[in-house]
Amino acid sequence: MNIQHNISLKSITSFGIDLIVNDFFELTNIADLPALSEVLERKIIGGGSNILCTQTPKGLVIANRTKGIKLIEEDANTALIEVASGEVWHDFVLYTLSQNLNGIENLALIPGTVGAAPIQNIGAYGVEVKDVIDSVIYWDWTDKKMVALSNIDCRFGYRDSIFKNELRNRFFIVSVRFRLSKIQQLQTTYGAINEELTNLNILRPNAKDVAQAVINIRSSKLPNPKEIGNAGSFFKNPNIPIQQYLDLKKRFATIPSYPVNEHTVKVPAGWLIEQCGWKGFRKNDYGVHEKQALVLVNYGNATGEEIWQLSSEILVSVKNTFGIELEREVQVW
Ligand SMILES: Cc1cc2nc3c(=O)[nH]c(=O)nc-3n(C[C@H](O)[C@H](O)[C@H](O)COP(=O)(O)OP(=O)(O)OC[C@H]3O[C@@H](n4cnc5c(N)ncnc54)[C@H](O)[C@@H]3O)c2cc1C
Repeated sequence: MNIQHNISLKSITSFGIDLIVNDFFELTNIADLPALSEVLERKIIGGGSNILCTQTPKGLVIANRTKGIKLIEEDANTALIEVASGEVWHDFVLYTLSQNLNGIENLALIPGTVGAAPIQNIGAYGVEVKDVIDSVIYWDWTDKKMVALSNIDCRFGYRDSIFKNELRNRFFIVSVRFRLSKIQQLQTTYGAINEELTNLNILRPNAKDVAQAVINIRSSKLPNPKEIGNAGSFFKNPNIPIQQYLDLKKRFATIPSYPVNEHTVKVPAGWLIEQCGWKGFRKNDYGVHEKQALVLVNYGNATGEEIWQLSSEILVSVKNTFGIELEREVQVW
């Protein structure tokens, strides 16, 4: 195995933090997994777009570069596709559109790899990846064998799954099977998709048009990690009891909310952070993005520790102002 030494994570993670990794391995062949199981400590990187490194990771860092897309079966209405975990997520979205398969067009342009998608059940514009996952195949580092988990056994939740909980540190996702539809069921009501389709003069959109609208909206709103280091939304949107929301509404008349169930609503974390005055905050090379308060940024030479500290200060001020405890979405190493 070709293990490289003293590799900087600056261009490998989207936050662009310059930490040096002692031992680094690019995995292209899953036949190496049994040998990698013998390593005492390891960390996995896919696209590096959901990781904040605050210290040099211990052990071997394995960068997932496995590739491959295959059709498993199809019928008149659906196709079952198995995708290697190292495939780039957005490339896979474009592939499905080229095959006239529907279901993930709203998830266009989310950075990262296919293998990371089930871990936090990626979602955007009213769609979550769990809606199209048939099963996930992973290598169990402890039992040293392949395991296939059905959708239900993945215990998907909002930016959550079994991989963040019971299976934490125990798995390497090898491939994901997606059940995609040959019939269009477009979701255009969330966010500004309909508005963007109108701007594009598209009256009867197809899945490719929706993906293009999403790409346009995301490109105009979110900082491109190639230009400004970031990991997208740093915090999850909190769910709070309806009574707490009604009490807050008496003090903050414009507080937005989205219904979750009869007892709970979701409040946009970005709005809470903005109200606390953090939007556009900058100190040295770290700060809060000027257009989106949910995104913490590295303007060049910020350290992971500085961004971590900033996130802790934001947590405290949101707690003090609203009594709401935010939770970090980004994985902290
Ligand atoms: C600009 C921007 C916008 C974003 N927008 C969204 C959005 O709209 N919705 C959303 O849900 N997310 C969003 N994200 C977050 C990010 O894109 C997703 O979390 C994505 O799934 C991360 O993929 P990755 O391959 O980069 O994972 P990484 O950052 O490399 O890894 C994330 C975690 O998964 C683990 N991991 C990765 N691959 C494997 C594997 N094969 N096996 C085992 N463990 C693995 C890593 O060890 C790490 O703990 C955004 C990020 C950025 C930078």
